[in-house]
Amino acid sequence: MPKKKIKELRNEIDDLNQDIFKLLSKRANIAKEIGDLQTNLGMSSYDPMREKEMLEDILANNQGPFGDATVKSLFKSVFQASMEVGKKADKPKFLTSRGDREDSVVYVGDVPIGGEHAPILIAGPCAIESKEQVDITAAEVAKHGIKLFRGGAFKPRSNPYSFQGIGLEALQWARAACDKHGLQFVAEIMDARDIDMFVEYVDMLQVGARNSQNFTLLKTIGKTNKPVLLKRGLSSTIEEWVMSAEYLMSEGNKNVVLCERGIRTYEQYTRNTLDVSAVALAKQETHLPVIVDVTHSGGRRDLLVPLTKAGLAVGADGIMVEVHPNPAVALSDQKQQLDFDGFDKYLEDTAYKTKLSKKRSEVYGF
Ligand code: PEP
Ligand code: MN
Repeated sequence: MPKKKIKELRNEIDDLNQDIFKLLSKRANIAKEIGDLQTNLGMSSYDPMREKEMLEDILANNQGPFGDATVKSLFKSVFQASMEVGKKADKPKFLTSRGDREDSVVYVGDVPIGGEHAPILIAGPCAIESKEQVDITAAEVAKHGIKLFRGGAFKPRSNPYSFQGIGLEALQWARAACDKHGLQFVAEIMDARDIDMFVEYVDMLQVGARNSQNFTLLKTIGKTNKPVLLKRGLSSTIEEWVMSAEYLMSEGNKNVVLCERGIRTYEQYTRNTLDVSAVALAKQETHLPVIVDVTHSGGRRDLLVPLTKAGLAVGADGIMVEVHPNPAVALSDQKQQLDFDGFDKYLEDTAYKTKLSKKRSEVYGF
């Protein structure tokens, strides 16, 4: 007889399980509907006040057998589970979003950046200062098997009286030097009106930190298919940085590489603070390649090696570093550019000599 009773009660529990499950699913679907409406209104779907009110309502009717703490923890799990359903459905909502997407690989000429490819190096002077300077630096960079050459022709300077860059002529000198030494040319564009000139002379357009939210410039570049190196703004959140990439992609340009270059913090020993978590997060949240500019991050020559190692350790697809034949007389960034001997040592100390020729997986085992 008791056995029969147990069986009956168990059947009752089975039915209740099914009912609870149906109710939980129904609840999750409604919560998701609310989440979608909130997303469309640009609101966050997490509302701690609403959670608090719901818990208070539930506990007000608690007649046992569970204690309040148990009821709270049971319902917290229910709330959490519903939120997760909404989150999964939300992704990917942007062209930049990771979602289920594989790593994007961006080609600059024949040089791949991202995915399983060995981390690249972009090297060259802060600014292009003369035909000779750009030619000997390009020769030096190419000598090491590096394929991407940087150099500014239009310089975004805080002080309007300091060197502003040579302009068009510098682009022409650098183009000739890159063609001569088999390099791809990366240069910063500051003004949307210069787009045709840049498309003609440059292989990869750099959007500098100060122009990271110049939406007119981003939309103009987005209408081309030139690879873009998008720096993070001086005080941009990761979301703002990624949204700038979204501007480029929403206009049709798929060839976007993100570049972390340090953010402004209260620290004075460094020019900026390299945000390594932003590199890891950008890789996680987007499918775009991410590189680290170690020169402008620290603003210190003595940090170039450790910051390079840190960037690569958190998954960067490459590094940017400034090299100048004679940094002491450079027209910008004297303090942090490497001379040619310093560059040799940098390549040795960061093991970049190997990285440039071997796949990332061979170096890091993943
Ligand atoms: C640069 O790379 O030349 C430069 C000016 O960097 P940022 O925009 O990151 O300051
Ligand atoms: Mn510089």
